[in-house]
Amino acid sequence: MEQITIRKTLLIMLTALLLFTACNTNGNQYYNTNDDVALNFIYSVSERRYLLTVADEVLIYRDLSDPASSAKPLCGKPNCTHDNENCAAYSLKEVRYPFFYNDKLYYFHEAAFYSSNKDGTNQRRIFSIDEGFYLENVKLFNEIMVFNIYSEELDGFNHGRNYRVCAYDFLNSKFNLVLETGVKYNSGISHIGIINGCLYSFYTGRDYPLEVNVNEDIWELRLDKNSIFYKDYYYEYRKIPLIQNNPLDYEYEVVNITASELIILDDYIFAYSEDEYPAELYRINVITNESDLIFTGGIIYLQIYDGKIQLRTGEYNEETKRVEFKNPKRYYLSGDKFIEIENAGYFNFYYESEEYLFGVFGGLDDYVKGYIKKTDYYNGFTEFVEMEGELW
Ligand SMILES: [Zn+2]
Repeated sequence: MEQITIRKTLLIMLTALLLFTACNTNGNQYYNTNDDVALNFIYSVSERRYLLTVADEVLIYRDLSDPASSAKPLCGKPNCTHDNENCAAYSLKEVRYPFFYNDKLYYFHEAAFYSSNKDGTNQRRIFSIDEGFYLENVKLFNEIMVFNIYSEELDGFNHGRNYRVCAYDFLNSKFNLVLETGVKYNSGISHIGIINGCLYSFYTGRDYPLEVNVNEDIWELRLDKNSIFYKDYYYEYRKIPLIQNNPLDYEYEVVNITASELIILDDYIFAYSEDEYPAELYRINVITNESDLIFTGGIIYLQIYDGKIQLRTGEYNEETKRVEFKNPKRYYLSGDKFIEIENAGYFNFYYESEEYLFGVFGGLDDYVKGYIKKTDYYNGFTEFVEMEGELW
C-alpha cells in the first residue's frame, strides 16, 4: 500500500517536472546543487545521499548510495506500523522541506522551523514565522538557509503580496529578516546563491495586472537592458546584502546582466541569454568583475551537478525562433573548456548522490527513468540503469 502511494506521488512530481521542463528554460530553479542540500517543494536531497519526502502520511527517506533500495519511513522503532503519533515518521507527516543537515533533521511545520534527531525524535522549535504566511523557495547555501514568506493581503488578494525574504544562519543560530516589501500578485523572488555575504536572486513577475499600481514600493519589473522577457515572465537579477539595517528600506544592486539563466559556482556567475542565437555563455568573476565568453551555441540547460557546470544544448528552429531538443548535446566544464559527453544529450538530471546521477532519458512522450555512475557518465554515456517503478 505504501509503495503504491509513493509511486503516485512521484509520478505527479515527475509529470510536473516534465511540464516545467517543456515550457521554461530555467532548469536550475528546482535545484540548488551548489551545496549539500537540494530542496524543492516535494523532496530534498541531503548530504548527497538521502532523498526525503512525505508520502502515504509518513516522512520517508531513500538512501541513494544504494540506488536499487526502496524508500523507508523515517522511524527507528522495531515492528512499528507507522500509523500513530508514537511513530516519528507519522508525527512528521505534515512537514515541509525536510532535510538532513549536520547530523540533524530540519523541517518546517505550520508556522515554525524545527530540528530533531535524524530518526525524528527530540523535536524542537527553532523559530516561528507569522501565522497566515505562505512559505516558498527554501534554499540552503552552505550554512545559510534562505526562504521567502508572503501573505496575499496587500490591497486585496488580486493586487499584491506582502513579501519577506528571510535567512537563517546555522553557524550562529541566527534568524534574520533580510527585506520586506510588496510585490505584484503572482510575482516572487528566487535565490541563486551567496557570494561575499550578498544574496543573488532573480525576480519574476507575471505581466498582469499591469494596470494596477499598488503603491510606490511595488517593484516595477521593467523591460530594459537589465531585464529579460521570457514568455509571460520578467526576470531581473539583483544582489542583496544579507545583513540590512532596515528590511523595509533595503539596499540592493541590479546585476547588470542580460540573461535567460544565471547560476553561481564558487566566486563565479555563469549567465547566458537566449534573446539571440547562438546564445553566448559568460563566466563572470564576482570578485574581479572580469568576464569571459566560454561557450557559444543553443543552450537549453545550465546546471551544476557533481560540482561542475553542466550544459545541455539543442538546435535552433527558424520557424519557432527557439532552441529545441532536436539533436541535444551535453557538455561539462573542465578548466576553461567544455567537454562533450557522447550520447548523453537526451539525459536530463533530476538529482544526484555522491556516486550517481539520477534522471530521465528521452523526450516528453517517451522517457525512461534511471541512474548512472558519475565515473561512467564522464567516460561517454552508453547506457544507464533503468529504475523499477517510479523514482523511489
Ligand atoms: Zn514508525
